[in-house]
Amino acid sequence: MSRIAVSKLPIDPGPAAWNELLPDAPRPQSVEGHLTADWIVIGAGFTGLAAARRLSQLCPSDRISVLEARRVAEGPAGRNSGFMIDLPHDLASADYGGAREKDRALTADNRHAIAFAAEMAREFGLGEDVFSQSGKINGAATAKGHAHNCEYAAHLASMDEASEMLDAQSMKDLTGTDYYRSGLYTAGTAMIQPAAYVRGVAQGLSSNRVQIFENSPVTGLIRDGDWTATTPAGKVTAPKVILAVNGHLNSFGFLKNHLMHVFTYASMTRPLSAAEMARLGGQRVWGITPADPMGTTVRRISSPEGDRIIVRNRFTFDPSMEVDQRRIARVARDHDRAFCARFPMLADVDMQYRWGGRLCLSRNNVSVVRELDEGLFAACCQNGLGTTRGTLAGILAAELATNTKSDRLDRMLADAEPTKLPPRSITKYGANGYLRVQELKAGREL
Ligand SMILES: Cc1cc2nc3c(=O)[nH]c(=O)nc-3n(C[C@H](O)[C@H](O)[C@H](O)COP(=O)(O)OP(=O)(O)OC[C@H]3O[C@@H](n4cnc5c(N)ncnc54)[C@H](O)[C@@H]3O)c2cc1C
Repeated sequence: MSRIAVSKLPIDPGPAAWNELLPDAPRPQSVEGHLTADWIVIGAGFTGLAAARRLSQLCPSDRISVLEARRVAEGPAGRNSGFMIDLPHDLASADYGGAREKDRALTADNRHAIAFAAEMAREFGLGEDVFSQSGKINGAATAKGHAHNCEYAAHLASMDEASEMLDAQSMKDLTGTDYYRSGLYTAGTAMIQPAAYVRGVAQGLSSNRVQIFENSPVTGLIRDGDWTATTPAGKVTAPKVILAVNGHLNSFGFLKNHLMHVFTYASMTRPLSAAEMARLGGQRVWGITPADPMGTTVRRISSPEGDRIIVRNRFTFDPSMEVDQRRIARVARDHDRAFCARFPMLADVDMQYRWGGRLCLSRNNVSVVRELDEGLFAACCQNGLGTTRGTLAGILAAELATNTKSDRLDRMLADAEPTKLPPRSITKYGANGYLRVQELKAGREL
């Protein structure tokens, strides 16, 4: 018998802006009374939904219950910048790159995850505004950023990966601003409207075999033969469980002091008026990641009521997995500065939404896909790239749990465990100090 009391439920600061742009979701279905299923998946982000999809392919007659603490798209899956990146993107590295052979395998695995997501997007009728394999640009605002891009391009070339260097004029033609001196375009990234994607996938998966239960936080798990997950208004019993809760793996009692809980933050403008769009110029849809991983990500999205610009920057290390509203207000200043520096012609455009969201990183940049206890599987710790790595982890956890063999799964299982962190207080101050220094070093890339 195993008994787990969940120590903390997710709290997400600020609105999930991408979700606010969508029509209201239909009334949620929550767990009520005592239900049974063949599988319980806990968490309906990229990882949990991919796990549910893969299980439904591998076990077509099984009943799968997905239990989500909040509404689908209210958590980190609906509050990210929507870059589903295929190439190595190690946030802790100087230039996103790693060792060549490892990066080749990683890229192939990431592309498998993106193809899996693309197939769902097609099957569930999600349009180009929700999922589009349009590629992305690493924008460089400084000589150092440009040098990073050159090194990254050389690393990609050594992996036989194509990339295209755009000059300052091409960057201006695209974005309307002359802030960037160059950009490195790579074609394999899918750009998603993250809330529309996870909501569309959840809806597409729902059937009488796959049920998505929202507002159903799991507060306890007990194994007594089968597993039973308890929620405030009921429980679900099933032989096997996949935990797809990213850093909240710690709240289920696993890998304490091995996972780093980091927040990053974003702001989204109100719709631009026709005059503002004319003043800005450039194209209507694009996405730019920073050449320095500590820099600012920027996206422009288009809609009939006017285009919007979204900026994301700053990382803070918060082992409590919570941040308060004051933090959002402080980070807002960094967003406004980054926005005004890039778009002085839009200096009077306000931000309509500001928010933050959780990432889970390990020091050695590995995920946790494995059997934690008999019949209890983890697909957690996506290292800041959960759109792709979470999708992959979900697929592979489903394969592990159904004893489905693949080279990809072997590769994932061969990864080391997340390395232990130093004592919490040292980690907190050390990590925040380190992050701040790296951000300051990023200069105009931030
Ligand atoms: C501002 C921002 C920008 C980002 N940009 C990008 C980007 O461009 N590209 C990228 O790849 N990643 C990005 N990320 C990171 C990305 O959002 C995460 O890595 C991703 O959401 C992780 O996916 P997941 O499904 O594993 O976890 P989550 O999305 O966190 O989903 C886990 C779910 O589990 C639920 N849960 C937790 N505990 C319980 C419980 N006890 N019971 C039931 N449910 C529970 C949570 O509510 C949550 O919905 C960004 C994040 C932020 C905040």
